[in-house]
Amino acid sequence: MGDQLSLDISSLKDARKTKDVIVMAELYNEITSVRHHKKKIVFVLSAMRHFAETLKAKGYKVDYIRLDDGNDFQSFTDFLKASISKHNVESIVVTKPSERRVVNEVKGWRDALSLQVEVRDDDRFVASIEEFRTWAKGRKTLRMEYFYREMRKKTGLLMDGDEPEGGKWNYDKQNRKPAAPDLFIPKPFGAAPDEITKNTMRLIQKHCEGHFGDIEPFRFAVTREDALKALDDFIENALPLFGDYQDAMLQDERFLYHSLLSPYINVGLLRPMEVCRRAEKAYADGHAPLNAVEGFIRQIIGWREYMRGVYWLGDGDYTEQNFLGAERALPWFYWSGETDMNCIRQVVSQTREEAYAHHIQRLMVTGTFAMLAGVDPLEVHEWYLIVYIDAFEWVEAPNVIGMSQYADGGALGSKPYAASGAYINRMSDYCKHCKYAVTKKTEENACPFNALYWDFLARNEKKLKGNPRLGQMYKTWEKMDANTKRGYRSRANALLKKLDRNERL
Ligand code: FAD
Ligand code: SF4
Repeated sequence: MGDQLSLDISSLKDARKTKDVIVMAELYNEITSVRHHKKKIVFVLSAMRHFAETLKAKGYKVDYIRLDDGNDFQSFTDFLKASISKHNVESIVVTKPSERRVVNEVKGWRDALSLQVEVRDDDRFVASIEEFRTWAKGRKTLRMEYFYREMRKKTGLLMDGDEPEGGKWNYDKQNRKPAAPDLFIPKPFGAAPDEITKNTMRLIQKHCEGHFGDIEPFRFAVTREDALKALDDFIENALPLFGDYQDAMLQDERFLYHSLLSPYINVGLLRPMEVCRRAEKAYADGHAPLNAVEGFIRQIIGWREYMRGVYWLGDGDYTEQNFLGAERALPWFYWSGETDMNCIRQVVSQTREEAYAHHIQRLMVTGTFAMLAGVDPLEVHEWYLIVYIDAFEWVEAPNVIGMSQYADGGALGSKPYAASGAYINRMSDYCKHCKYAVTKKTEENACPFNALYWDFLARNEKKLKGNPRLGQMYKTWEKMDANTKRGYRSRANALLKKLDRNERL
């Protein structure tokens, strides 16, 4: 599979170079059933092609079917049927896929192929799915922070015996500063495309012309070698200030001190633990401070692992939840970027060009707006799955459905990430360049986030008022005079009507 590109993956552990055949295929259905960003398709296919070359160079037999070989396999099952008729197959070994849809397909292989199928756990994570289930069992609410502490103890990362390094588990109080536009910010690592990548770019340009996103410039690493260079570069240049500016947004600095390592970790070019060990060493060597290193490691052994655990926790489809009953269609400007709201315009155009936005842009700009506007979480989920290079359902869906849209009713996070324009103004320079005024409340030129924020709380009062973390906000709402309340609600109503009529906002 395209996200199993690790030489130490469980399915390869005892592979015999002379007898076993490693089969890989580029399936048209897999890249078009969800119309992924062109850069993401190039990234995954080129990384697969390079991985196949690495396997061959190591002496493995590889049967690799390319998209341009004219294959018309509709599914992995179809492809395997053809593969089996070519090779003398006794049994199939596969690492458990990361997505529920594909796991369900794999479950049908034994019958469809009349062969023994061995499905091995994906052990590239710190916690197994079972381990997360055991941790979650019997808890009324799940909180990442407690799970994260278990992972710190399990891995020994930043531990001083049984105690956390420095005496605290979490140093976020020292993090999250706004950034000044004249701050020196290193450019992230970029790899020049080689012939394999260039061929893939031409292929995808031809086959996926109507997909969202720009192919060029393409700077992502597609080999483990280059992904390791990207890791070195991040540790050396950006990690020391990662914590300080983790939540900041600047319109001329798209990456700030973020690592851009998620695509490599998600497809298997880098291992989560090797990334964390490198960060830990940077702290031990005095190269990066504890607040940066702890914050970075928490994202990987905390949030990343937690999201995977949540995705696999229930039996049902995680993406079907809609606690707030939101039903509005996704605004067209999520694709075109044609809006006067500068924050959204910036994030959407960056997303189109880079297939990347950092966490706060995803959470507090496009995520918050969609939730405040009452957009159907399934549509929001589909958008995020399409537009980002690192989007794989197991990590994207809990982040979108759970964290950013509160569609799981608080199973994953303790409160909805609702905010007015003041948050974006504090953490970015977007508002300075916006047609709307962030300090205005209900006027024609007032920032849309402001009225939508209060309207969201009022609309969902029955479901949200009991949440202790929103208590203060509901008290403020109650204390407001009737005129002000009416003003907010009628401004919000006018904005939502504009959305429904597909008018420019
Ligand atoms: P950095 O800021 O440098 O963080 C370091 C690493 O920590 C990341 O590479 C990633 O591996 C991990 N990480 C950080 N936050 C999270 C998180 N919340 N969940 C899981 N891992 C995390 N991440 C994805 O990998 N795929 C997605 O499809 C995805 N969709 C998201 C959708 C929304 C609405 C939100 C709010 C977050 C989403 N994230 C997703 C999490 C996070 O935004 C990205 O992992 C991060 O922006 C990747 O950029 P980076 O490598 O520069 O991260
Ligand atoms: Fe976004 Fe409002 Fe700021 Fe404009 S004023 S950039 S819409 S938060």
